[in-house]
Amino acid sequence: MTGRTFSRRRMLQSTAALAAAALAPRTVFAQQAVRAPAASLPARGEFLIRGAIVLSMDAAVPDLVAGDVHVRDGSIVAVAQKIQAAAAQVIDGAGMICIPGFVDTHFHMWNALFRPFVRADVPALGYFPVTARLGPLMRPEDSYRSVRLAATDAIAAGITTVHNWSHNTRSPEHAEAELSAMRDMGIRGRLAYGTPVGMADDAPMDLAGLARIKKSWMPDKDGLLTLGICSRNLGALTIGGGAAATSRGVLTVEQIKRDWDGARALGLPITMHTSGASPITDLERAALLGPDVQLVHPLLTTPEERAILKARGVSYSTSPQLESRRAAQLGVIQLGELLEAGVKVSLSTDHIASASCDPFSAMRTLFALHSHRIGARVPLTLKRLLQLATIDGAVDLGIADRAGSITPGKRADLVLVRTSDTNMAPAGDPYEALVSFGLPSNVDTVIIDGRVLRRAGRFTAFDHARIVADAREAAVALRNKAGWPT
Ligand SMILES: [Zn+2]
Repeated sequence: MTGRTFSRRRMLQSTAALAAAALAPRTVFAQQAVRAPAASLPARGEFLIRGAIVLSMDAAVPDLVAGDVHVRDGSIVAVAQKIQAAAAQVIDGAGMICIPGFVDTHFHMWNALFRPFVRADVPALGYFPVTARLGPLMRPEDSYRSVRLAATDAIAAGITTVHNWSHNTRSPEHAEAELSAMRDMGIRGRLAYGTPVGMADDAPMDLAGLARIKKSWMPDKDGLLTLGICSRNLGALTIGGGAAATSRGVLTVEQIKRDWDGARALGLPITMHTSGASPITDLERAALLGPDVQLVHPLLTTPEERAILKARGVSYSTSPQLESRRAAQLGVIQLGELLEAGVKVSLSTDHIASASCDPFSAMRTLFALHSHRIGARVPLTLKRLLQLATIDGAVDLGIADRAGSITPGKRADLVLVRTSDTNMAPAGDPYEALVSFGLPSNVDTVIIDGRVLRRAGRFTAFDHARIVADAREAAVALRNKAGWPT
């Protein structure tokens, strides 16, 4: 009797799912996507990474020249030179460096699908004009496809956590689409709920929609997803010309306070770009800074402002690949100054519409810029760079209790990097190998929350060609809808 009832319920659910799937894409996310299990992801099993160079990023867990990492049901059980685990599936780590997955603390996944159109060297086809023109036309389905595309690139590069900075949240359904894509890809991360591209500066962000998303998605049953907001800018922007100013917003302190107060009433953290004159003094005067705030692009801070950031526990995310393209008068990456002042710093990609998704390159670029400008005065080790890209990112996002290092008891977000490839062999010091030589193509295995999502440089559960084709189709349709370029 019980079985029959269960079957009947299952059948009704299937019918409802089919009916929902038959509807237009716009309604799919409203009716179907919320908190459905990620059925296509691999199961979390028990395995033993054997004989890898282990870089733990935890002062209490020594690095190992050749060691084992034991994982069961998504958790790191043990890290030691030799572990016996008869029931575990063995993953041979010989010739590999095992690191915690990279934590990317600022990534606009919604515009990854514009990659075919953006040109880094043609201002009219630059990132800001393209996203300002096509962003307003995006439907939730387009956001879903873009986030899936971005997630494939992130996972392949060894990024296991992403702060998905959605500054084109056109509706709660768009947010739901982005969360659904993150869930379906099995990536850990925070969605920063934002505002639509092109929204009027005096319009408040959709706090009711935000509250609805929080209620239906948080806390995430799977433990992978969290929620926050991304704020529009305070004061004028100095990059992207008019396209950036009109599409991303230029708010007053009062308008910023209104949005931030709303987020804080929901207990949600806040992130904001600082792409122009530094807003830190104004934010401090308005008593808006705290440990729940992350700023992005640390280029123009004063010593007094860095002291404020330290005192308030504010984090700063730097995106070296794209910040290093900015004109010199717009500031330099102040990593040395921030570290000297004791400010929390983390690393990010920003976007992949015209930059590669490559945390190795981000570390390498940051090291080069730092050495070039200030390295003689402020020493920086390669190990510190890997910390910035892993555990410090987890601290920034408030998830260091479960991610960012290879620590027994934490969730298993692990990456194996081959040292036998032509660009790295014969490898010496593993930090040197990763920062000076590493490429995403060296990433062999990626495990997120105990699920093996990539093995031997291939996805275990995703049809990459299909994800690319879906993204391209959506991008071309948006361009046609805009009649652009004309
Ligand atoms: Zn950004």
